[in-house]
Amino acid sequence: MSRIAVVTGGTRGIGRSITEGLIAEGYQVAALYHGNEEAAQKCASETGAKVYKADVADFQSCADAIAKIESEMGPVDILVNNAGITKDGMLHKMQEESWHAVIETNLTSCYNMCRAVIAGMRERKFGRIVNISSINGQKGQLGQCNYSAAKAGMLGFTRALAQESAAKGITVNAICPGYIATDMTSAMPQEVLDSIIRQIPAARMGKPQEIADMVVFLASDRAAFVTGATMTVNGGQYMAA
Ligand code: NDP
Repeated sequence: MSRIAVVTGGTRGIGRSITEGLIAEGYQVAALYHGNEEAAQKCASETGAKVYKADVADFQSCADAIAKIESEMGPVDILVNNAGITKDGMLHKMQEESWHAVIETNLTSCYNMCRAVIAGMRERKFGRIVNISSINGQKGQLGQCNYSAAKAGMLGFTRALAQESAAKGITVNAICPGYIATDMTSAMPQEVLDSIIRQIPAARMGKPQEIADMVVFLASDRAAFVTGATMTVNGGQYMAA
């Protein structure tokens, strides 16, 4: 039986590439989405993934989604916490709602989703958890106190859960993408994107598949000794120690 992977935000952008990359390696994939039905149905018909609607910011919604996936597909072996949002603004203007929405969707979601799968992984003595953080969680970013805090929080979460899980055959790692061409970045003004590209030694934005390739490696048996790690995939824009 092939292993079962859950990818949050798995029907669009980086997540869709992760879904495709895992399917190409022989995994069965459950892709979670929030509201974009059209992208979800397109992903299901084009990739063969099963799609499930859930709100990763909501504890019960995550628990219900995992219960449904496990009853329809089987136990979850791999979890990729990829769903995320931005609500940018300088702190002196940031509304409370923007703070909470970004923290809950990017960071609390990791607790919600991991909490729903971790006991089963521990019992079965196998698991792969990959958390999609961000370059801006490593270096901070003007206008993103909420997002930078959430993404940095994911790195601490990753290391703590990695320590709790290593002896049970479960690895927990984070990936920090640089700027990747998706709907999230296409929402940014072109002049801002041009100035960012000038700061990237590789002189281009990344492709979603370049993040998916790292996920596929971390999910594999070859990565069994990699845990608690932060994998930086950013064209050299920020070279973290
Ligand atoms: P997109 O905006 O293209 O896609 C976001 C995905 O997350 C969508 O599938 C969306 O679902 C899903 N989602 C959003 N909110 C929720 C929610 N509450 N519950 C469930 N699913 C939700 O994002 P990207 O592909 O660009 O980004 C993916 C991840 O990579 C994010 O965590 C992002 O922070 C991170 N990242 C992205 C970078 C970039 O340059 N693009 C750089 C660094 C990190 P739906 O389709 O239903 O709306």
